[in-house]
Amino acid sequence: MDSYHELIEGYKAFRDKYLHQDIDAYRRWAAMTQSPKVMIIGCSDSRVNPAILTHAGLGEIFVTNNVANIVPPFEAGRHSHTSIGAAVQFAVTRLKVSHIIVMAHSGCGGIRALMSQDYNDEAPDDDYIHGWINVVKEAKEAVKYAMSDRDLEEQCQICEMEGALVSLTNLMQYPYVREALEEGRLDLHAWYFHTESGELLAYNYEEKRYRRVVQTH
Ligand SMILES: [Zn+2]
Repeated sequence: MDSYHELIEGYKAFRDKYLHQDIDAYRRWAAMTQSPKVMIIGCSDSRVNPAILTHAGLGEIFVTNNVANIVPPFEAGRHSHTSIGAAVQFAVTRLKVSHIIVMAHSGCGGIRALMSQDYNDEAPDDDYIHGWINVVKEAKEAVKYAMSDRDLEEQCQICEMEGALVSLTNLMQYPYVREALEEGRLDLHAWYFHTESGELLAYNYEEKRYRRVVQTH
């Protein structure tokens, strides 16, 4: 069976669960408009799916994905990055989410490209990736400065974590985000998912480090 038909088979299982096994809950859900309390900004990477990782149901997470889970800085009047800006605006002003999570992950191809490329390289006109990942180049610069003696693998991992923090800082510049933060109705979080181990880490602002969200004993 090819991958497209596997999707259709998966949908059949979904439909069976929603329409037959759980029909009352489905009708109840279908009658409602969406009102998620959480927005997750994740990478497009196929191994990182917030709904699967958190066992969230339909309507529970407002998700936007892009290469390397980047939030660009707010640009008044310029609107270069309309997709992510519109998603953030909609989540905060219309859905009034209580949490926005930027979710980074290990083995991120976008961050590896950022760490591997030479700033002096002139990117071809059709190279979208180069310009996009450079939005978080300050994460790369910090890692290259502080961890120049580490190997590329380790530098990439730290850059993945730092990149999420750069995006959080950028998020705070959006006027509706800043307003919601000031009014105490929004919290921002950075998560880091280890694709190899399945561990999920969250950034702790007080300790200035990522910690496992579930402590193992
Ligand atoms: Zn990624």
